[in-house]
Amino acid sequence: MRPEDILVPTPSGVCCKRGGFFVDPTRAVDKAVITHGHSDHARAGHGAVLATQETLDLMRLRYGENFAGTTQAARYGETIKLGEARVSLHPAGHVLGSAQVAIETSGLRIVASGDYKNIADPTCAPFELVRCDVFITEATFGLPVFRHGDPDGEIAKLLHSVALFPERAHLIGVYSLGKAQRVISLIRKAGYDRPVYLHGALESITRYYESRGIALGELRAVRGAGKAELAGAIALCPPSALKELWSRRFPDPVTSFASGWMRVRARARQRGVELPLVISDHADWDGLTATIAATGAAEVWVTHGQEDALVHWCMTRGLKARPLDIVGYGDEELEDSASVRDGDGKAS
Ligand SMILES: [Zn+2]
Ligand SMILES: [Zn+2]
Repeated sequence: MRPEDILVPTPSGVCCKRGGFFVDPTRAVDKAVITHGHSDHARAGHGAVLATQETLDLMRLRYGENFAGTTQAARYGETIKLGEARVSLHPAGHVLGSAQVAIETSGLRIVASGDYKNIADPTCAPFELVRCDVFITEATFGLPVFRHGDPDGEIAKLLHSVALFPERAHLIGVYSLGKAQRVISLIRKAGYDRPVYLHGALESITRYYESRGIALGELRAVRGAGKAELAGAIALCPPSALKELWSRRFPDPVTSFASGWMRVRARARQRGVELPLVISDHADWDGLTATIAATGAAEVWVTHGQEDALVHWCMTRGLKARPLDIVGYGDEELEDSASVRDGDGKAS
């Protein structure tokens, strides 16, 4: 039995014929297993969706009540029979509710990781290592140059700047699902207890995190706050808002952006980011390679962007490896990734 007989890579996602489902399909299908709520993985319009409760809730928040024909929530570790396959979800450590999908049939276990990170994040369950025969890994930061370092150190830089410029606002670009809540929680962990201000686009998901027991301290809407109140404050917004008219309400803002891409100085400069914060919800090069090795998989399939270096790394370790050419997975760390990716995608 070859892995390809169980899971077929197609341009719109991997398909398990024996189970009758796709994982994170990029087009509408009859049955989908969804790893997490980011919009390129979790699309509306499927006949049936299996995911964690949090992922289903986040899809409902984003797309409305009728985002799928039917839904089924699975707990982490619970085994569900789909056709001839046994499917279970395991924490991916990426965002709230994110899961790796383990698929077992004919004595083979394949794990589709979705997006993942293997470092601590107080806003979601920690990554769980699942040993397997074939591991499907993302490669968003699949180049040796990407080493994210310590997120607490990045937050210390931010709070140092806040102390240094008490009259300026600090405006941080963050992705709305996951990064926003993680940055707030890191700021709280560092002892900052003043209100944190939110752009309207971040409110509903952040309130949802709170409803699932993630404590984020006092949060206020930017909407309605005066310029004087925003002096010296920390505010979070989608990256695209940093350059919009919206940002002019802040007194002399220090613009910041929290992303793994901020490791590349040219990108920070290009975006006019004064205070780059290297904080990522994806594994870095060391995280990817350590995880691949630890799964014990003899075969690795690589998706998402920078596949080549990771495929090469696997082959030098004697692992079978191939890139999956799935069109449509983006990169939530850059909401406008296409334009920026064109700039220096391979140069780094
Ligand atoms: Zn992704
Ligand atoms: Zn993601």
